Amino acid sequence: MKVVVYGDGQLAQMMYLAGVPLGIEVQAVDVKSDTVVHPVSKLPVNQSLKDALDEADALTVEFEHVPERLLEQAADTGKLMPSMDAILVGADRVREKQLLEQLKVANCPHRIVTALEQLDDCIDALGDKLIIKASRDGYDGYGQWRLKDAGELPALKAALQELDLQQVPLVVEQMLSFERELSLIGVRSAAGDIRVYPLAQNLHHEGQLHVSVAPANAVDTALQAQAEAIFTTLANGMQYVGVLAVEMFQCGDTLLVNELAPRVHNSGHWTLTGSDTSQFENHLRAVVGLPLGDTKAHRPAAMVNVIGCSSFSRDLLSIEGCHLHWYGKAVRKKRKMGHINLTAATYAELGGKLNQLAEFMPEGKFPCLKDEAERLKKL
Ligand code: ATP
Ligand code: MG
Repeated sequence: MKVVVYGDGQLAQMMYLAGVPLGIEVQAVDVKSDTVVHPVSKLPVNQSLKDALDEADALTVEFEHVPERLLEQAADTGKLMPSMDAILVGADRVREKQLLEQLKVANCPHRIVTALEQLDDCIDALGDKLIIKASRDGYDGYGQWRLKDAGELPALKAALQELDLQQVPLVVEQMLSFERELSLIGVRSAAGDIRVYPLAQNLHHEGQLHVSVAPANAVDTALQAQAEAIFTTLANGMQYVGVLAVEMFQCGDTLLVNELAPRVHNSGHWTLTGSDTSQFENHLRAVVGLPLGDTKAHRPAAMVNVIGCSSFSRDLLSIEGCHLHWYGKAVRKKRKMGHINLTAATYAELGGKLNQLAEFMPEGKFPCLKDEAERLKKL
């Protein structure tokens, strides 16, 4: 079987690796040049995009910002999973909010802004602690601005002046003080079978994911059930096929949806070592119509992103239960270079392993590691 993935980054690479034992050949598309490439080497393969699409059993994406002309071509084949609508929901925060409202899924209080004057109304409606997000092309905290009090409004308006808000509106959200960030990764088959992984707890720094721990601690059955109900509403509502990631904020006992990612997701990388079936394998199974795999977690797992650095001792693999996944990219500031997965018998042991890991890593590049280690050691 063959699957074509739009995008040729690490997620396509990990889908490729998951496909090998299943006999599923995964090809990637460099969406800047419409070229079919090998998902690991990124070198062009000797096949036109048209031929690759004809031969494929399923087409899917590893990121949501695929040019619409390519998505249309893919959708026309009848083999694109998830659907173009679902992908566009992930690519456009206005569509995303509309879907959440339409399906009555709890989310952050927000306003859509198409002219800068409307920011004054936002302060009246939402208060003066706001997070302002470009509705398209933002990721890892890019395309976001923060307002800490009303006095900053003139400076914010000046910073936003160049934007064409008619073309790309802003989504203005109340700055929430949540207890923690959680995400639910789940998968839905074309027949409507749904499997979800346990909730992961995510630690962000400067708008970028640094560490995930799964299963998140202190998740009672009611909270997991609430997350699963949200997932089911969204996945069924979109007739979704494949892996869908739902990022949420926990405020008291309530989960508010922050973002949807219509694809495998960074906060699900722990499933490579912490679960029976990785998110990558389950995504492939779903899009080619194979039965879905077990999503249970074996034991506490942590995923640590390696961001903006590559020089550290690979002797970190001496930590028991430690696995490195390297993406083979040139180093750039804030770029995700790889990730490290760890598992342990208990949270406390996992905390100890994060402390051990910190010893191998360059100073200052892993700002969340020690604090997360201390938190886990107390559980
Ligand atoms: P991603 O890399 O997940 O795609 P992103 O740049 O698309 O990130 P968001 O997930 O919306 O953007 O925001 C990034 C982070 O900023 C969140 O994980 C959270 O830490 C913080 N954040 C976003 N929205 C809010 C909010 N309304 N209140 C408080 N913090 C927020
Ligand atoms: Mg996010």
